[in-house]
Amino acid sequence: MSDLQELYQSVILDHNRKPRNFGAADGANRVAEGKNPLCGDQVLISLHLDGDRITDVKFSGHGCAISKASASLMTTAVKGKTRTDAEALFERFHALVLGQDVGGGKDLGQLVVFEGVSRFPVRVKCASLAWHTLKAALASEAIVTTSPATVTTE
Ligand code: ZN
Repeated sequence: MSDLQELYQSVILDHNRKPRNFGAADGANRVAEGKNPLCGDQVLISLHLDGDRITDVKFSGHGCAISKASASLMTTAVKGKTRTDAEALFERFHALVLGQDVGGGKDLGQLVVFEGVSRFPVRVKCASLAWHTLKAALASEAIVTTSPATVTTE
């Protein structure tokens, strides 16, 4: 294993062990639930959308190390971003995990740790589950009570 792969691995393990933004978002007004039946991953994303900006985003649920670390890193990456920027980042992340050329991926920041996932097609769904769920949450109707939208990865 190269030094870079080892570094990527340790970031994923760290986020799996100590997930960031775990729980429910403050004043959540968008919620969605995502499921990846192939692996048994389940994630609930709640966020507070203020105008066009994601002021808080958190996740809960259970699943494999990849899905959990991805949800943790995703929340860290999109917190404070506009809906448009978050969706654009998802496009870039999706290209990365599908093994497409992302030109070094500097704009992806820490998300590049999922680069190796492209070699394991089954894991692509684990890595992108939180992002698909985020997109579903952003597209959902504003809510006052908690009634999650549901999405299943294809
Ligand atoms: Zn998984």
